[in-house]
Amino acid sequence: MRPKETLLSTKGTPNKHEEDMDLDHSFFSMETPLRADAFELDDDLKVELIEKHFKEIMQILGLDLNDDSLKGTPNRVAKMYVKELFKGLNPKNKPEAKLFDNKYNYKNMLVEKNISFHSVCEHHFVPIIGKAHVAYIPNNEVVGLSKLNRIVRYFAQRPQVQERMTIQIANMLKEVLNTQDVAVIIEADHLCVAMRGVQDITSSTITSEFSGKFQDARTREELLNYIALKS
Ligand SMILES: [Zn+2]
Repeated sequence: MRPKETLLSTKGTPNKHEEDMDLDHSFFSMETPLRADAFELDDDLKVELIEKHFKEIMQILGLDLNDDSLKGTPNRVAKMYVKELFKGLNPKNKPEAKLFDNKYNYKNMLVEKNISFHSVCEHHFVPIIGKAHVAYIPNNEVVGLSKLNRIVRYFAQRPQVQERMTIQIANMLKEVLNTQDVAVIIEADHLCVAMRGVQDITSSTITSEFSGKFQDARTREELLNYIALKS
């Protein structure tokens, strides 16, 4: 069974038993499109090159780079891109998810809700601001709660589309927790919709991935009730 369901078009959930994810084409299609040489340049060199190019963009826009307020901007933007906003592109920053024995034999769903995140829309390079709710039903092992937040943040810290981010988080949870029983719901505001184009400041986007036992209507309803609870 390859359980999957999403509110937006999302296809290609991998089979968790695939040892080598790189060979799994359905998984690969969910990967952020990166070139093979993506990490041949080290971070310092990337900052240096981006700084140079961002300076050119500012110059083309007619900004005076001699101005005190502007002259440090290319370096600030470059550092922010490499070390913060897009840190999650580099697999070396993937969070290690240490598991613990499920000593309490807890077999119900665990929900970590309202995980706030910031990402960047890969089509316009402006922010996506949102909340993720993730849930799983443990097997023999459980994960430290903060790891769930870190997994969300890791996939948020790259140029993204919300549909892909939803699936990437679900896939990593399945892989790490060794279960198909995971759910991810993301609600986010896309500033590319608010700041440009249709300039709608009230719409938000919801995506979801329900896998394994979360495909069952009652289990899913339980999850949605927990998310709706005011805590
Ligand atoms: Zn966009």
